[in-house]
Amino acid sequence: MKYNMKRTVLVTGGGGYIGAHACKALAEAGYEPVTYDNLSYGHREHVLWGPFEYGDILDRERLDAVFEKHKPDAVMHFAAFAYVGESVTNPEKYYRNNVAGSLSILEAMIRHGVKDIVFSSTCATYGIPENLPISEDSPQKPINPYGRSKLMVEEMLADFGRAHRLRWIALRYFNAAGADEEGDIGEAHDPETHLIPLVLDAASGKRPSVTVFGTDYDTPDGTCVRDYKHVADLASAHVLALKAIQEGMAPRAFNLGNGSGYSVREVIEEAERITGRAISTEWGARREGDPARLIASATDAREILGWVSARPGLNQMVGTAWTWHCKNNLSAAAHLSKDTAS
Ligand code: UDP
Repeated sequence: MKYNMKRTVLVTGGGGYIGAHACKALAEAGYEPVTYDNLSYGHREHVLWGPFEYGDILDRERLDAVFEKHKPDAVMHFAAFAYVGESVTNPEKYYRNNVAGSLSILEAMIRHGVKDIVFSSTCATYGIPENLPISEDSPQKPINPYGRSKLMVEEMLADFGRAHRLRWIALRYFNAAGADEEGDIGEAHDPETHLIPLVLDAASGKRPSVTVFGTDYDTPDGTCVRDYKHVADLASAHVLALKAIQEGMAPRAFNLGNGSGYSVREVIEEAERITGRAISTEWGARREGDPARLIASATDAREILGWVSARPGLNQMVGTAWTWHCKNNLSAAAHLSKDTAS
């Protein structure tokens, strides 16, 4: 036990979108985040709070060295692949990294006597919901390998909890959105598949248009409804979950969402309002596997974890994403003109 020291948290995937925001929230709460990332999708320049350790979650020796060096008190496990379509065509990539990689993390924790873990799970573990809003005890019937890979890890956590007294909380996110309010970090996927960054790309002219996947859903305006949640609010829930574990809360999962949703059309309209630009929109066919509406019940996260959503409005999510988009694309443009000049 370390006394009078910052509690250290090993953050796998700390260079990714939600992981980097969690590192900031951890640092602000007095923890020391140590990012462990192989930078396959993460960004070195987003590791701004605490040390960075390059490594793959499947690399046992590297994990041992990092656990030995930093002696973490807990783990936050974000490192995972998250492209649903790719998980269908290349399931082995998802089972290897998301499932075997998580097993490798859990085994390293056992070897090094670390008992506490917050796991980044997903609403994709529910599949097509029978009832809305989706509560934590709704049936988990994922419809793609990505969702199945995350559900398998939840099941591993439960088994490790029973066998090794591992203490865990799984957080099932709905749609993460927005960016850090200070503009330090934001969403930067490559390839980008998420609605809000694609819409902002169309607003700024980086892409010619955005395609709406389906206009004939059984929703008020015919387009899909999703429960968008500001990424900084997701990050704060991770800190609350960690504290709850450390204070002895029994292992369980929590949904993280707003409890209300916005349609694709509403997102585009909000982006037009915030950016002051017309967004060229193509009305396309449905994307396979998209349910009409996904809405979380996050009552437990509020009432049991004490989670307060500081940025519930779509304007806050699209607004911070736009600030980030402008800053990010300005610096990309500056690099480009420097390269061209030299
Ligand atoms: N969507 C869309 N066009 C796009 C990307 C997404 O219409 O180019 C829709 C998608 O069908 C879904 C919503 O936007 O209803 C959010 O999709 P996203 O991929 O951002 O997150 P998901 O809900 O799949 O996790």
